[in-house]
Amino acid sequence: MSLPYTGGCQCGQIRYEILAQPLTLYLCHCKECQKQSSSAFGMSLTVLRDAVVIVQGKPKAWTRKNDRGREVNNLFCGDCGTRLFHERTYKPNTINVKAGTLDDTSWLHPVGNI
Ligand SMILES: [Zn+2]
Ligand SMILES: [Zn+2]
Repeated sequence: MSLPYTGGCQCGQIRYEILAQPLTLYLCHCKECQKQSSSAFGMSLTVLRDAVVIVQGKPKAWTRKNDRGREVNNLFCGDCGTRLFHERTYKPNTINVKAGTLDDTSWLHPVGNI
């Protein structure tokens, strides 16, 4: 796969590009990720914060605390509700992209399950 990777929400109002190779991809089976994805697990593609550019639209955000009590900003499309990104305020240099929102998911190979 060649850069940039492109993706967006389900309704197409928000579009983003990833400009650098992701750092890792993992599947998380915690209760929060099950709720968020309404599925068995959530996919997190960790990317350098500066390498993710929103090229169309403006995500909405809400903040929750994770199981260690640290803040996570959850960014989503205000029109269709698709979850796009998780910003961990305690790790400001990276952002977790919800990998199912990529246009091409065929190349995704998770390194592990947590
Ligand atoms: Zn949308
Ligand atoms: Zn989780």
